[in-house]
Formats: sequence, C-alpha cells, structure tokens
Amino acid sequence: MRVTLWGTRGSLATPGPETVRYGGNTSCVEVRGADGTILVLDAGTGIRRLGGRLGPEVGRVNVLLTHLHMDHIQGLGFFRPLDQPGQEVHIWGPPSTTLDLRARVSRYLSPPLFPVRLRELPCRLTLHDVPLEPEQIRIGELRICAALVCHPGPTVGYRISEDGATLAYIPDHEPLLGASRLPSSDWISGFDLAARADLLIHDSQYSAGQYPKHVGWGHSAIPHVLEFTARTGAKRLVTFHHDPRHDDAALDRLVDEARSAAALPFEILPGVEGASFEC
Ligand SMILES: [Zn+2]
Ligand SMILES: [Zn+2]
Repeated sequence: MRVTLWGTRGSLATPGPETVRYGGNTSCVEVRGADGTILVLDAGTGIRRLGGRLGPEVGRVNVLLTHLHMDHIQGLGFFRPLDQPGQEVHIWGPPSTTLDLRARVSRYLSPPLFPVRLRELPCRLTLHDVPLEPEQIRIGELRICAALVCHPGPTVGYRISEDGATLAYIPDHEPLLGASRLPSSDWISGFDLAARADLLIHDSQYSAGQYPKHVGWGHSAIPHVLEFTARTGAKRLVTFHHDPRHDDAALDRLVDEARSAAALPFEILPGVEGASFEC
C-alpha cells in the first residue's frame, strides 16, 4: 500500500512561513491499496487538498476517524467527495456508550458550527461505529483492526494490513500516562496495534522537557515514542501530530536528537506534509 501524509500537525492548524516544510494542516493520511482501495485516516484540515484529488472515478471512499477532537474532523465539511451527488462515502469512528457516530459527527456538521447539515449532503453517506479488536473489517484487500488507546475520550488507533505489510496509525496517544517508564508489553496501550508494523505513524507531540506540564493531555514526548517503537518491534517510525509551537527548525532538532539517541532498532522518518511511503 502507498501511504501519503496530507496533514501532520496536532491540535490546531498552524500555517505560516515558519512551518512551511513540515506543514500546518492537521491530521490526515491517505492509504491506497494495491487494488485501488482508498482509506483516509482522520479528517483534519489536510483532507481538503486530498479531496480535491478524488473525483467520482475513484468509487467508494472510506474515512476512518480515530476520535472526534476538532483537529481530526475539522476538514470533513470541506472534503469534496461528500459534496458529489451519488458518491459512496463511508465514515468509521470509535464507538461511544452515549451516542452513535452519526449523532456525534452531526454536532459539528450542523448550525451554528457549520452551515450544512449531514443529512443535506448529496453523497451516499454511511456512518459506522467501528468494531473493536479482535474483530476486523475488510475494505477491498485491506484488513483493518481498531483498538482503543490511551487518550481523553473514546479514541482508537488503526492497524491496516495488506499482503503481509502492516501500517499502524496512532496519532493521539499517551501510553506512558505520567509513569516513569512503560509497563510490561501486555499492558502497554496500543502495543498490539503497532507490534512488528512495517510503518508506525505515531504521536510525537512534545519534547522531553515539555511533557511534565502536559501529563494526562493524551500525547507523547519523543523519548517515550522511541521506547514504545522499540518495544513493539516496529520497523519505521513516522513522527506525527507535531505541537503547534514547534516550527520547522524545532522539529528538525527533535528528529536529529531522536536519531542520535542510543542505537535504535528502527528507522525514524520525519512526518512532513506531502511525504509518501511504500508499505
Ligand atoms: Zn489530535
Ligand atoms: Zn485528540
């Protein structure tokens, strides 16, 4: 499968000359299977440009939301396939004990927050509460597993496999949650999602120095991400969900520091908007 980053910023869109290389758009990742199946992971502001590339010829479009924080759904109302009469669009998201996904997404896609209501969209739209592990869903030739991860509110990560290759996507994740080190592997949030993945896209929001002030906010500091990645045996790590305060120079520094940390058994790839990876 081919994996393309359309938005790598966390929390808030952060456009400007100081973020032009890593990009300012919030979470959105495109996955294209060998059979042409299209998955869109999260609907942050990066989804708008992706939607411009998806004409009616692409067939069914599948949007997989990790959770409903604004930085992961804000682009939804500007995603062109939703505005195409007859276009088949499926949106998947984490189950909640209170409301189904349609009711929760409608809170954003309705006045006063948005002028158009979900039911007024001309596409053929289906919303699904995504089944959790050990259940899997299959879309085209892609097998998808979702599991709850440590982050405020119902939040999932995704493990997507095709022909022996595996992508893990965990953009908002705090497996450490204030502890001084990760617990044994059976108890690490997100462990099964990332285990031996060929490509892991993971929350890398904070520097080590920033983390203590943000314990419980649901995000990771780079050293924790390195330990998490090493423990899971993932082969390549893509840094993701960059803090809005981190400009290009700061993100270069964080990646350089991570790469020069003790010999790591995996490769570190900076999560730059527009980057594309074969998985
Ligand atoms: Zn987020
Ligand atoms: Zn979040």
